[in-house]
Amino acid sequence: MLGLMQDIPLLISSLIVHADRHHGDVEIVSRRVEGDIHRTTYRELHSRAKRLANALDALGIGMSDRVATLAWNGYRHVELYYGVAGKGAVLHTINPRLPADQVAWITQHAEDTLLFFDLTFLPIIEKIAAQCTTVKAFVAMTDAAHMPATTGIANLMCYEDLIAAQDDRYEWPAFDERVASSMCYTSGTTGNPKGVLYSHRSTLLHTFAVAMPDGLSVSAKEAILPVVPMFHVNAWGIPYAAAMAGAKLVFPGPALDGKSLHELIEAEKVTLSAGVPTVWQGLLGHMEQHDLRFSTMRRTIVGGAALPPAMLRTFEERYGVTALHAWGMTEMSPIGTACATRAKHAACDREALFAVKGKQGRAVFGVDMKIVDQAGTELPWDGIAFGDLLVRGPWIVNEYFRGEGGNPLVTDASGLTWFPTGDVATIDADGYMQITDRSKDVIKSGGEWISSIDIENVAMSHPAVAMSACIGVAHPKWDERPLLVVVKKPGKEVTRDELLRHYEGKVAKWQVPDDVAFVDAIPMGATGKMLKNKLREQFREHRLPGA
Ligand code: AMP
Repeated sequence: MLGLMQDIPLLISSLIVHADRHHGDVEIVSRRVEGDIHRTTYRELHSRAKRLANALDALGIGMSDRVATLAWNGYRHVELYYGVAGKGAVLHTINPRLPADQVAWITQHAEDTLLFFDLTFLPIIEKIAAQCTTVKAFVAMTDAAHMPATTGIANLMCYEDLIAAQDDRYEWPAFDERVASSMCYTSGTTGNPKGVLYSHRSTLLHTFAVAMPDGLSVSAKEAILPVVPMFHVNAWGIPYAAAMAGAKLVFPGPALDGKSLHELIEAEKVTLSAGVPTVWQGLLGHMEQHDLRFSTMRRTIVGGAALPPAMLRTFEERYGVTALHAWGMTEMSPIGTACATRAKHAACDREALFAVKGKQGRAVFGVDMKIVDQAGTELPWDGIAFGDLLVRGPWIVNEYFRGEGGNPLVTDASGLTWFPTGDVATIDADGYMQITDRSKDVIKSGGEWISSIDIENVAMSHPAVAMSACIGVAHPKWDERPLLVVVKKPGKEVTRDELLRHYEGKVAKWQVPDDVAFVDAIPMGATGKMLKNKLREQFREHRLPGA
């Protein structure tokens, strides 16, 4: 017997319809590529998303056709989120920080039909336009006054003209909630990127999880500034969750430096922000230098890479901002865990609480996880045993686009399928997961594993260290030994021996790095992660003392 409740598909269009009807006056503020601050509301945004849907119809974009973007965080990008997916096409957000030939490769692989781009990325479009044979037109996300005068692009259109030519009467179609809504390619460091194809259902379920109090806790009381790009796993779902809850959205556009971010946070009374640790590094550095404070920001979500304990303390102790550590992946839409505390933690002292908050957190409902050994046997949740982290759930990848890479799942003894994350983790008795490393980055020293994240975190707690990466370097006796690569803070000094002494009492003796290399910069990937494979190449010939 089936239940007798209304069978309404979970569709992305329902989010913007809800936002318009129930909190249509709530603001969406964007720093534009054109340089000014732009203000709109959910009501106006809905109207423009419907105009866009009409324009897409007029251009012959049909069900499941891919429509790509190369764009910063801003209101036009949100209009595309809703206009494209709402009409049943697939929004393909491309990371503009990838090399141009990879952008072209992804566009061809996805068979994108249109490509919308912010003016910043015109040089990329000029370079790749001829290679993108499936793209019928390139649309500059600007108005007629800002259109580039001459370009080598034949089929170039203007976003505002496209929208102005349509009216906003549009009925969002109803279809199967499992229909594809959007896609994002992984930023894999080896092999070709792989496409992850989200559905309306997976996105809506993920949005509920994001909004939950022990998820990212998104409510109508918040003004949210997602620094995390809308081209990196849908800005962690914030553009959807904010519309669901009625939160104000504040978009930084292309200005991601500490000064611009701080100014926007203050001017727009931002209460919650979200981004990777390297972005916060820039913001905190600027604030320290100019002795600034936050007047409204109460929380920040840190994910994409491990939150260094020193950064957690700076946010909480110096600025009174709660740092919520979260973990996920492109393949997971992305949220897997968030580090909200439990009632029992109210009794914890400060240090014990920091130890909990430094972990990646508990699985949000919808995601199941386990850690397994090499044979696939589940390991205990004791906070000590570490193993490969596997996940399953309705917003986790089942298969990559066009079957790329074969079946990504593993099947356990009870027949359940799991996605191996490639991360190595512990889970404690309270369900808090902690990543010890990416499996490729673990340092294997004489049969023992050293967590590169643990070693980096100690370095980051030194006042002269701006950034650190720990990598394994070949060693004749131990196979690999840790080398610490460090970028110093401007104007600060520290020597190799001082840094190594800083490890005393903080990690086991055999985990202390064998050497320190000082560099001007650590190579970073397109989503703000350190490129350790590049570093390993760079230091392949490094001779450790005594080796
Ligand atoms: P991406 O698909 O580009 O978002 O990368 C996902 C990977 O980033 C994960 O598998 C982790 O290795 C890493 N990652 C994401 N969040 C965290 C976090 N909070 N702590 C440590 N690593 C993280």
